[in-house]
Parts: sequence; structure tokens; C-alpha cells
Amino acid sequence: SQARSMGGEQNLIVALRIRPMAEDEIISGAHPAAYKVEDNMVVLLDPADDPDDILRANRSREKQFVFDCTFDGACTQRDVYEATTKVLIPNVTVGYNATVFAYGPTGAGKTYTMLGTDEEPGIMVQALNDLFMEMRQNTDKAFKVTMSYLEIYNEMIRDLLNPDSGFLELREDARGNVQVAGISEVTAKSTEEVMGMLVKGNLERTQEPTAANATSSRSHAILQVTVKQRSRVRSVMQEVKTGRLYLVDLAGSERAANTHNRGKRMVEGAHINRSLLALGNCINALSDKSGPKYINYRDSKLTRLLKDALGGNCKTVMIAHISPASSQFEESRNTLVYADRAKHI
Ligand code: ADP
Ligand code: MG
Repeated sequence: SQARSMGGEQNLIVALRIRPMAEDEIISGAHPAAYKVEDNMVVLLDPADDPDDILRANRSREKQFVFDCTFDGACTQRDVYEATTKVLIPNVTVGYNATVFAYGPTGAGKTYTMLGTDEEPGIMVQALNDLFMEMRQNTDKAFKVTMSYLEIYNEMIRDLLNPDSGFLELREDARGNVQVAGISEVTAKSTEEVMGMLVKGNLERTQEPTAANATSSRSHAILQVTVKQRSRVRSVMQEVKTGRLYLVDLAGSERAANTHNRGKRMVEGAHINRSLLALGNCINALSDKSGPKYINYRDSKLTRLLKDALGGNCKTVMIAHISPASSQFEESRNTLVYADRAKHI
């Protein structure tokens, strides 16, 4: 991949991944409407415009979007990991927090990017592999890596590694750090072990059928990786540094209105919209260089939980996901606008 990776100074990176066309999209006659034109630029064509209008004279709604990096169907899981997340690993091992979000409508490829498959593991497994490697190589330091996997569904938190434990609460400790009270923290050593746990945890996610999609994820799934580091050299002032990496597979961003939802589904939609809006506002405020601004983390559980990972010296990566298909034009446009807004002042 030619994609630029995150520089040392940049605290927010907004990336776009366009998955390949799906078989059912091709069969139903959809054509590619979103594509990468340069390393960091994509074009979205309105399918209502005349495809034979080669001079593009009447292409009123054609729009270009610029990102820090873009990935198309030819990009691999490794390309995406290396350009977005790999650079965060050294920060986390020296005690900083970082977050990677997968954003987009259901079916656009969020879970593929974050979790992936046994053959093509996603960001979660690749990041843990790098952390394990760092632990083995750095012999002056003692590391402890633990992970928790949770979901936020309708503003309620569930432990995906211990689903019978009921709903968990957010607590602030004496130093103002936000914690999930009673969440299980596990250690894992190998890729297989990590993948096994995540796949099992993912099956516990709240996934319910809606009119738009058979299995749309109505919850945010959050892998919380905690790295504790101390020097092996014995000293009186032995400092323990804690860094945290949050890897977040967000709930589908499609609008409640688009799925003809009623009752329970409509409530879910409202919660999802509210937390994605709160997240967008927090990220947008962070990228605002015009001066300090009040950031309302309290608007949702998602932003409350991530409070310590969304400010200061923390690094944030947003990977927006879209389908290239013309049939998904409206969802793709909404996603590009959200992602575009996140990075703008
Ligand atoms: P989401 O989590 O956003 O709802 P998924 O990750 O489940 O979407 O992706 C929907 C389908 O598309 C899955 O079958 C997935 O395997 C496939 N898919 C998504 N992204 C890619 C990709 N980059 N390359 C190949 N297949 C993909
Ligand atoms: Mg998913």
C-alpha cells in the first residue's frame, strides 16, 4: 500500500476503506459508484446521474472526499493495519492511550477490518501479535498485557467474555479514571487463543434482524487492551506505566428511519444515533485547533468510557467503511459526510 501512515505529531487520523463489491450487489445490477482515485482521495458518483455523460456535464452530485489514507478492494488486512494501527503500539507500551474505531453502515466491512477471519486476521489480532512481540523483545522491561471485550447495547454494558455477568456499570476511580466495574480481564499468549476468544465473544453480541439486514449489529463492541510496564531493574522508585488500546467495532450507522423500525428497534436506533453523534462531536472538538472547547463526554456511555483515550496526547484513528455499490449510495454519502466532519474544524 502507498497509504501514508500516521505521523508523530498527528493525533487524529481519518481513513476510509471501500470493500470489494459483494456478489449479491453484482447480481442485482449495482455498479461501482465509490472508488479510490488517488492515495488519499475517493470519488462518489450519484447513480441518479447519467452514466453515459462522459463529459460529466450533468453530474451535479459527484463529490470528492479527501482522507489521511484510503483503502480499496485491492488492499489487504495487513495494509490497513500497518497504515493505521501499527504506529500506535510503541505509544501504548510507554503508557499512552489510543483508540481505533471502525465506523459505517451494516455490511460495509467493520467487523472484517477489526476481527477478520482465521486466514485474514483483522486489526485486533495483528495489534495483539505486535504487543506480544514487543514484550518478548524488550528484555529490560516487564510487561503485562490483559484484555477485556465488552459491548454497549442500548446504553447498557455487557462483558462479552463473561456474558452471564449481567449489566456492568462505569465507575470513576479516585484519580478520575473511568473503569468498567467487574469486567473480566484475561491474558492470552498466542494468536489462536486471542482469535478464539474474540470469535466466541462476538457470537455473544446483540445482533438482531432488521428490515434492512438480516444480522445488523446493534451494539458497539470494544476490545480494551491494557499494557502495564515496569523496569526490570530493581529500584526504590519503580514506576508502573499503564497504556490502553481500545479497538472499537461500532454499531451500524444506518439511520433508524431507513430500516422501517418500530418499537424496540426504534429505541435501539435512537441510542445508536445518539452515541455516534456524541462520538463525532468529541472527535470533532479534538481536531479543533482554534482553542480549548468544552467536550461533553457524558452524552453517551461510549464517550464516557473512552474519555481517557480521546484527549490530550492520545491518538485516535477512525476508519470509515463503505460499499462501492451504487445501490448503497445514500449510506455511503452519509458515512463520508460523517467522517469528513470528524476531521474538519
Ligand atoms: P459490518 O461489520 O460492517 O456489518 P462485515 O464486516 O460483516 O460488515 O462485512 C460484510 C460482508 O462483507 C462479510 O461477508 C465480509 O466477509 C465481507 N467483507 C467486508 N469487507 C471485506 C473486504 N475488505 N474484503 C473481502 N470481504 C469483505
Ligand atoms: Mg459487524
